[in-house]
Amino acid sequence: MTVELISVGTEILLGNIVNTNASFLAEKCAALGMSNYYQVSVGDNEERLSEVLKTALSRSEVVILTGGLGPTEDDLTKEVTAKVLNRRLVEDEKTKSRLNEYFKGRDKKDITENNWKQTLVIEDCLVVDNNNGTAPGLIAKTEDGKSVILLPGPPGEMVPMFEESIVPYLKGLSGNVLYSEMVKICGIGESKVETMIKDMIDSQTNPTIAPYAKNGEVHLRVTALAATEEEGKCITAPVVTELKKRFGVHIYTTEEKVTIEEAVVKLLAEYGLTLSTAESCSGGLLSGRLVNVSGASAVFEEGFITYSNTAKMKYLNVSEDTLKEFGAVSKETAEEMARGAAKASQSLAALSVTGIAGPEGGTDKKPVGLVYIGCFLDGKTETREYHFKGNRQKVREYTVISALDFLRT
Ligand code: ATP
Ligand code: MG
Repeated sequence: MTVELISVGTEILLGNIVNTNASFLAEKCAALGMSNYYQVSVGDNEERLSEVLKTALSRSEVVILTGGLGPTEDDLTKEVTAKVLNRRLVEDEKTKSRLNEYFKGRDKKDITENNWKQTLVIEDCLVVDNNNGTAPGLIAKTEDGKSVILLPGPPGEMVPMFEESIVPYLKGLSGNVLYSEMVKICGIGESKVETMIKDMIDSQTNPTIAPYAKNGEVHLRVTALAATEEEGKCITAPVVTELKKRFGVHIYTTEEKVTIEEAVVKLLAEYGLTLSTAESCSGGLLSGRLVNVSGASAVFEEGFITYSNTAKMKYLNVSEDTLKEFGAVSKETAEEMARGAAKASQSLAALSVTGIAGPEGGTDKKPVGLVYIGCFLDGKTETREYHFKGNRQKVREYTVISALDFLRT
């Protein structure tokens, strides 16, 4: 099934807002196994919106429009869609009573006339409740069986509406269920992952494998189209097994909702280990990620942010000689930091991080992006050297992911 996305709003064209709706919908539609070949952004202009909608309907089976459903003058998505489909706008009783309910207790003077415009819907359409705002969503079927879906612009309204009502509708359209499994990989770059499964992607039909990179991780979504969920499981199972064989320990979970910090906390708890952290360039980001996990207190002992050399010596007992001879960003310092953190907090495991996040501070010998991570476990300390690319924020993010992955593997 093909889907086309139309984002309506002059503010998108002017660059005033980031089109997060399109990225959200594209990801969701891909996960539903739909093919998205076109995404169009168009201003709040009747003629041009009409043109892009007609074009979309000529080449796609489902067209999803976001924005322009509100009460103001420039909101004209519904009106234009009705015209293109050659339908009237009719008052919807349910929406009217919901709106009355919404405005209950407010001064009638504050409710401007144009608010009631929202009670009008395209005739013969499905009205989708908006539990987070006033404008309902609409689903209209064309004579040749295509679906036009109108959703409000604010993500806080659009996202829950899509999840609650549009996903079941789209699943129902194909008469099949879409069953998907998630394989989350850490420690291998996106292009390497893709190379490693190129043969699988090239020959895929059902299930399909969709890779996407997310904050230093690579996620592979394996989606099967099947008559039942059970059948879906059977279709995806051999592919997931093959992925496990190819990526081994680099897969940290096959569960949709599990994050890498959760996987790490779970692993520590399983082994009865406690952890402390010693951070320089990540400045607390690592401990912050760990305490994202509810229940982290069972394993997370203490976090040291030792940005200066003085702090490294004072709290982690890093020796002045090491700092002088090898520098703060060195394998030796990372090693002493990890050992020092474990000792100071009496934890069984420790992670340390020291590096150059940039954009300044790099040299030929120690360029921006150079990071050393130390891992203390079983009385021994291991260190690894990394060279990350990207801005300061990215370097720090990759550092945290790599530290968590280091401990895991
Ligand atoms: P409202 O009732 O708030 O007017 P609407 O359905 O008419 O809703 P718009 O007027 O087009 O929607 O947009 C309202 C707000 O929603 C925008 O100012 C913006 O903050 C957000 N928004 C709209 N479109 C997008 C988009 N594609 N991506 C992210 N945010 C969006
Ligand atoms: Mg609006």
